[in-house]
Formats: sequence, structure tokens, C-alpha cells
Amino acid sequence: MAKETVGYVQLEWTCPFCGTRNPGPNKKCSSCGSPQPEDVQFEQAAQEELIADEQLIEKAKSGPDIHCPFCGTRNPAGATTCANCMGDLTDAEARAKGKVVGKYRKEAAPDIACPFCGTMNPANAHTCSNCNGNLHEPAAPQPAAPPAPQRRLGVAGIIGIVAIIAACIFIFSLFLRTDDVNGRVSTVEWTRSIAIEALVPVERSAFIDEIPAEIEVYDCRRQLHHVQDEPAPDAEKICGTPYTVDTGTGIGEVVQDCQYQVYEDYCRFTVDEWQQVDVVTERGANLNPIWPQPQLTSDQRLGAEQQQFEVIFESDGERYTYTTDSADQFARFEIGSEWILQVNQLGGVVSVEPAR
Ligand SMILES: [Zn+2]
Ligand SMILES: [Zn+2]
Ligand SMILES: [Zn+2]
Repeated sequence: MAKETVGYVQLEWTCPFCGTRNPGPNKKCSSCGSPQPEDVQFEQAAQEELIADEQLIEKAKSGPDIHCPFCGTRNPAGATTCANCMGDLTDAEARAKGKVVGKYRKEAAPDIACPFCGTMNPANAHTCSNCNGNLHEPAAPQPAAPPAPQRRLGVAGIIGIVAIIAACIFIFSLFLRTDDVNGRVSTVEWTRSIAIEALVPVERSAFIDEIPAEIEVYDCRRQLHHVQDEPAPDAEKICGTPYTVDTGTGIGEVVQDCQYQVYEDYCRFTVDEWQQVDVVTERGANLNPIWPQPQLTSDQRLGAEQQQFEVIFESDGERYTYTTDSADQFARFEIGSEWILQVNQLGGVVSVEPAR
């Protein structure tokens, strides 16, 4: 995210001795004259207006104020002697800067009623225009919201989950438990197939920078390519909600985090790609499988090969089917030969071995 300065606004601080709210740049309380202590934070005004005063803006940019180690008075960054007590400021501590004080309060804030005489005053006023009373009495702390009740799994839910797990274990066990069965090979079948591929024009789409230059493109339209922090020509700037940051000078910097959406041409194009156009298959009911020998045209090539072998066993009138993709294993299933089959609870043959 790239940070952008929207402008500068005046912050405020509340005098801990008399409760008066003071303009941020004021180093002493306008009511009782006490200097702003180091631990008194700057706050947002009820309504923030961007300031035009170049001197104040320069001050905000010059770095946080420093507090005199002898009398505590705030002095501007770079000062060498305290404006209040003339003390040496070499070891003075700078105020913290960079803290987010809140969302930029751009909107007009409603007038506030004086807690003493009821007179309505502008939101940014500190003292009542009628009775001179303090308009910002410290507010009572808000009661904390009760914690949201946590969702618990009911007894029915637990029973349901246990039942599902039990069912899974049962079904799984049907596949795992096997019985030995003596079987005799009655039929064998083999299938061998080869895919035929050809160069076929295929429509694709991609960003223009990913398409080789020699390929003709059409139907181009602007589409979001990526988002970046740095500005770029034709990029669309997207910014978050502006917020006010304490600069440590009584002036707040209003900033927003921005990113740039970069658009590029997304186009359609046609390329030739190898694709499966046909499959040729040979089948037989013997132990001598062969591969198909297709005649290829000049723009074709052979693709993936597949083979599947099926053996039917007979045992006391029952038929069991065993399949394998191993030609070596298939060659051993002479018609009439005796085998021991491992059969699972669903009647599937899991493995076979020759009977002694
Ligand atoms: Zn005061
Ligand atoms: Zn001092
Ligand atoms: Zn009043």
C-alpha cells in the first residue's frame, strides 16, 4: 500500500488540571496556563478541516515536538534551549509520532449543547459562548457489551457425528475383510487401445503480454491485470478511507492508503494444439493380446496407450471377475487353471494367487 497525504488538520489536547480542550499547536492551556504534560495525548477535533496555513504544515513536517527535561514544556523540534525555563534541550525526549488517532472526520459534526446552560455551540467550540463553561466534560465509560454466547454442539449433533463415523468404518470394513475362494479360469478377455491425436485449431484467451507476437489476436478488451503500489499510466487509483495520524506537533496528518489497478488488453486467439481425435481398439478372448496398428495421416500422431485384462473365474456355480492392467500377469491365466481368490464382502476379487 502506498501512503498518500490528503492534508493536515489541527488536533486538540485536554488540560488534565482544568479540563479545558486546547488547540493542538498551543503548548500551554488557554484557561489555566499549565504546559501540556508529556503523557497527555493529542485527540481529534469533532470536525476536522484541512488547514491552509503553510507555516503550520511545515511545522507538522519538521518532526515531533520535544519536552524540556527540566520543566516539561513542549518545544518545537530542533530547539536547543527551552522557551519557558531556558534549560538545555540536548537530552530532551521527542513526542511519539505516527499513532493513528482515528478516521478523518470530514463531515460536519452536529452542534453541542452546553452541559451547564443548554446553549447550542458549534462542534469545534471548547467553551460555551453564553456561560464560558467547559463543553467537553469527560464522558462516562461505556459498559462493555456482554460476550456473545458460544455455540455448542448439542447431544444430537454428537450422536449424529458418531453414527456417521461408525457407518464409514462399517463400509470400509466391507472392502477390507476378505474370504479365500477356490476358482477355475473360465474366460479371459483383453482390450488394448491407442489414442490418435491431430493438430486442431483451439480458441484460447490471455493477456496480450502472454501471447507470442506472431499470433493474430482479436476481440481484445481491457481487463484487470494486477494491483500494485506504484502509480502507472492508465492505472485506476483505489484508496481506502482517509485517517488522521498524530505527528507529535499538535497537527494531524490526514493520510490514505492507495493502490493502483493496472488494466491490460485481454484477447482471444487461435492456436493449433495436439488433441485426441480418435481411439482405435483391439479386443480378444485369448492370452495373446496385440496393439492396434492404425494408419496415420501426415497431421496425426499416436497418443496415450491403455490396456485392460479381465479374467472370469468359476467356483461352485459362482462367477468372479478379476481385472488387471498387467500383461505379464494376464499371460499366466491359462483356461482351466486353478487359483485362490481373495474376495471381499461385496464380491470383488482383491487379489489372486495360483492354487498349489
Ligand atoms: Zn488548564
Ligand atoms: Zn523548560
Ligand atoms: Zn453554557
